[in-house]
Amino acid sequence: MMDYDKARERMVAEQLVSRGIADEKVLTAMGAVPRHRFVEMGLEAIAYSDRPLPIGHHQTISQPYIVARMTEALELEPDDKVLEIGAGSGYQAAVLAEIGQKVYTIEKIEPLLERARSILDELGYDNVVSKIDDGARGWPEHAPYDAILVTAGAPDVPQPLMDQLAEGGRMIIPVGDQTLQELIKVVKKNGEARKKKLGGCRFVPLRGEHGW
Ligand code: SAH
Repeated sequence: MMDYDKARERMVAEQLVSRGIADEKVLTAMGAVPRHRFVEMGLEAIAYSDRPLPIGHHQTISQPYIVARMTEALELEPDDKVLEIGAGSGYQAAVLAEIGQKVYTIEKIEPLLERARSILDELGYDNVVSKIDDGARGWPEHAPYDAILVTAGAPDVPQPLMDQLAEGGRMIIPVGDQTLQELIKVVKKNGEARKKKLGGCRFVPLRGEHGW
């Protein structure tokens, strides 16, 4: 029987702390969420390895470091309302839910969300609300959001998401083509988008009207 707690502890030390992730909230959250529960059946033993993993339907759960990097860049506070586009396995949503107050997550592929939902429920993440939709339209009923995280590569920042970002809110989104993107941080200041580049990344493409 594999010691998942130990594997997770090592992941935090060797993949996150050593690469400069310093936000205690992020380190605590990633030390708490059982990543092995979110990966595909049969891949539990490599759940804490330094790589993305397949979750079926040609989608992936991001490498732990990328999850940490994006979460840290969101600068979350405990009372934040967060919107995630691309629930996938539900892992990132769980990490966000450990730190923020409420997480809204949207997924396009129904069976993925069904599985994510059942694991999140089993683990007691009742502050994660989810739905099936084209996430690039956002979730206007609950806007504005203090933080928005897009976990699929987009050609540009979708305007509905910009509109639903609170004043002072942060959005992290991979922008580029279908194979390579740049991680962009958008901060809304006086109603305007201030953008900063955080480095190259590789996400699955965002599908739909504002995607590919
Ligand atoms: N955050 C996920 C990883 C997501 S992979 C995790 O922690 O596991 C990207 C996900 O975005 C995929 O599940 C894909 O189906 C979804 N996706 C792609 N385009 C989308 C869209 N327009 N709206 C909602 N989800 C989308």
